Parts: sequence; C-alpha cells; structure tokens
Amino acid sequence: MDEYIDSLWHLFDILGLSTITDHKHRIYYPYLLSSLLMAFFYYYFLRSGKNSKEASKFSQYIFPKQIWLHKSAIVDYQLFIFNNIIKALLIAPYLIAHISFAYAITRSWEYLIGIQDSIQWSSLTINIIYSIIFLITSDFSRYLLHYCLHKIPILWQFHKVHHSAEVLTPVTLYRVHPLEYFFLKLRSVLIFGIVSGSFYFWFRTGFEPLSILKIHIGIFLFNLLGSNLRHSHVPVRFGNLPEHIFISPAQHQIHHGNEEKYFDKNYGSIFAIWDLMFGTLLISQKHEKIHFGIMKDEQKEYSNLFQNLWTPVRNLFRGKN
Ligand SMILES: [Zn+2]
Ligand SMILES: [Zn+2]
Repeated sequence: MDEYIDSLWHLFDILGLSTITDHKHRIYYPYLLSSLLMAFFYYYFLRSGKNSKEASKFSQYIFPKQIWLHKSAIVDYQLFIFNNIIKALLIAPYLIAHISFAYAITRSWEYLIGIQDSIQWSSLTINIIYSIIFLITSDFSRYLLHYCLHKIPILWQFHKVHHSAEVLTPVTLYRVHPLEYFFLKLRSVLIFGIVSGSFYFWFRTGFEPLSILKIHIGIFLFNLLGSNLRHSHVPVRFGNLPEHIFISPAQHQIHHGNEEKYFDKNYGSIFAIWDLMFGTLLISQKHEKIHFGIMKDEQKEYSNLFQNLWTPVRNLFRGKN
C-alpha cells in the first residue's frame, strides 16, 4: 500500500500537482490562501460598484466559471503539466549547472586578480549583504530578461504564449513556452553563479540568505503579499507612491492588457524602480477595465496546447516578428 501511495505521489510530483505543497513555488497553498485573504479584503472594502448584482457572493466573484474554466485557463493548466514533466527530466542538470557556474565564477576571480585574503566580517553581516545583493540583482535580471522577451522579435514569439492568456489565474504564471522556461532557468543559473561565486571568492566562508522556511525572506514576503493576484481578475492596487517602488497585482495586469497604451509597460517583478528608471512604468488607475491577451488577429493561433507549443516555432521559421 505504501509503495502504491509513493508511486502515486511521484506521479503527482512529475505532473506538478504537488507544487501547492512545495514552499519553493508561488502557488504553495499558504501563498494562495494569503492572496485569497487579500482578495476578500479587496472585495468587501475596496471594490467599486460592490452593490451591483454582477457578483453577489465572494465565492462567485473569486471563482467564476467563465474564468477558471475558460479555454485559455485550460491551456494554462495543460502547459503547467507539460512544463513540469520537462522540469522533472531536467532537475539534475539544472542543479549541477547552478553549482558548476558558481564554481567557475570563483575560479574566474582567482584567475583575474589572484587569490586574495578573505574579508573577515561576521556571518550575520555577510548573510544580510548577500540577501540584499541577491534580491536586487535577481530582480533586475528578471526585468532585463522580460524586457528582452518583448523587444527581441525572436524571443517575443515565445513570450507571446504567456501574453496570449485571455483570462488570468495564478496558474497563468506557468503558461510559458518550454523555450522561455529554459531562458528563465538560465537566468537563475547565471545570477546564482555570479552572486554566490563572487561572495565565496571574497569571503571564503559559507553563507546563505536570511530565510523563512528556507526561502529568501524577500521572496517569501513577495509571495505572501498577494503575488498570486498578479495573475487574476482582482485588481489590487498599492496606491500611487508605493507603485513607484513595488509592482502591484494591478500593474502586472496592465502588463497583460491588449490595448496599445498598455504595451511594453511594467516589466518588473518585485520592484517598480527598474520600470521607473527605464521609462516603462505605468501606475494603475481606479476603475480601469483591462482586457487581457494579444492582438485579435493573432489570438486565434494560441487557442490550444498544440498551437501554443508550435506557433512560436513556426513563426520563427517564417521570420515573423
Ligand atoms: Zn511580458
Ligand atoms: Zn504575467
């Protein structure tokens, strides 16, 4: 019986269905629950037109069939499973790449400036500085990659899969083409390697980020504070000033808008400062009705799993921008 349960769990794991019990993922159930709580607060205290008949109950507002069972959402679920199967196959090379690249960075420093005396700071100081530098570099690299995914025509073909979502649910986060998934992972390997490899060179000691549940404290808080609402129809705003510092759920929803005024805006993940610096920031407005997706004539080419996998590859060969 135990073996049967084990293999069932293993299958769940490969399909990604155990993700909600894994604190490393954004759809870990406490993060989903905290987002639900924020949505609850939004529904009762902040939503305009709450006396209207359009959604009389919170459950109807948050779980409407026309969103969660929309054909676009079904593609999200399929891509989530598809990408998880690929991920299960690549997990070992991915972990090895992290360690190997960090080691290569340490060796590169040694090659460039020779072995130096290590800096003698307390481990708490090193951990705090590592946490801050890692969070900032990681978030900036996400911005940069996201910018390239939009601005480099070949990459945009693949990122279009994410933007072809016509409705948003937390699972839309995983609606990415496997090739984009590869770039996202490559970014993670590069940033971990550069930051950790350099830290090891300068401090020659063990270090780790300040963590909650073994997750970087900044990323834990980001996930806990409504990150799942970014891919949802709940337009939680942070207000004018905070949205110049942090990207709110409503700002990421703007990023998914299919009107020209929303194009190339709000590339950021955690911090809005990169968008502010590079002129791509758009502050959310009250009562903004945003329609999600890509241009109408292209939308029909991304309506099922196969199309989402194949259309970017086909467009690449056709040299389409
Ligand atoms: Zn995008
Ligand atoms: Zn998105």
